Amino acid sequence: DIAANAQLYLDDVRVSFDGFKALRGLSLTIEPGEMRAIIGPNGAGKTTMMDVITGKTRPDSGEVLFEGGSVDLTRLDEAAIAELGIGRKFQKPTVFESHTVEDNVYLALKADRGPLATLFHRLNAEEARRIDEILATVKLGDRRHELAANLSHGQKQWLEIGMLLAQEPKLLLVDEPVAGMTDAETMETAALLRRIHDSGKSVVVVEHDMAFVRELGVKVTVLHEGGVLSEGSIDHVAADPRVIEVYLGR
Ligand code: ADP
Repeated sequence: DIAANAQLYLDDVRVSFDGFKALRGLSLTIEPGEMRAIIGPNGAGKTTMMDVITGKTRPDSGEVLFEGGSVDLTRLDEAAIAELGIGRKFQKPTVFESHTVEDNVYLALKADRGPLATLFHRLNAEEARRIDEILATVKLGDRRHELAANLSHGQKQWLEIGMLLAQEPKLLLVDEPVAGMTDAETMETAALLRRIHDSGKSVVVVEHDMAFVRELGVKVTVLHEGGVLSEGSIDHVAADPRVIEVYLGR
């Protein structure tokens, strides 16, 4: 049974907006601990897919199952899905600009306890250890006392990924992380996502940047018109005539 061995299992998922079919029978399986890259032209359904997984959009039909098929995500709201351990990073970073880098991670660690509990609570040893660990993962240890406002665009993206890690997600959904980044930041981001993947988490990355996807070195799913057009290594999908037609044939 495929669903029973999957971290995330989508089967024949359909979503329409006023008659427009954004997802027309999308099926996708992410293995536990797998990192997957999702690519596809504008309008392919990538955002709608992320919205369905996170409970923002309810599918018209189809299955969306988490953790070996044990949880039906279509029955849960966004808060419950986040609580289960599905973290989403949107394209635009939303760090707290007027707080330091380490306070941003601390606020994320304490996100469930409310702002006052956060401000008046002293760091305990475990929290300090977690913050150190997260800042090391996102390579911002040497900027920890800097205001987030003073970080580069790329560093803000990494900080926000760190804030997501504070919530200990089992599955990370990352939306166009390298948009607007320099080439060096793009390669650094690929290395960061590989470190997160190596730590055992499942990761789904939606991205247009082919150099980045190649650098990730993971299985690629190409979406087109609300379904899967091609799947496999980057070299496999890049040589697939259907993919070439969609990207070059217009
Ligand atoms: P992608 O992220 O791959 O660019 P989207 O999932 O954003 O694709 O969009 C798929 C299609 O669904 C697009 O044609 C888009 O215009 C349409 N769409 C997405 N969200 C809505 C919505 N809330 N209302 C109407 N149409 C939508």
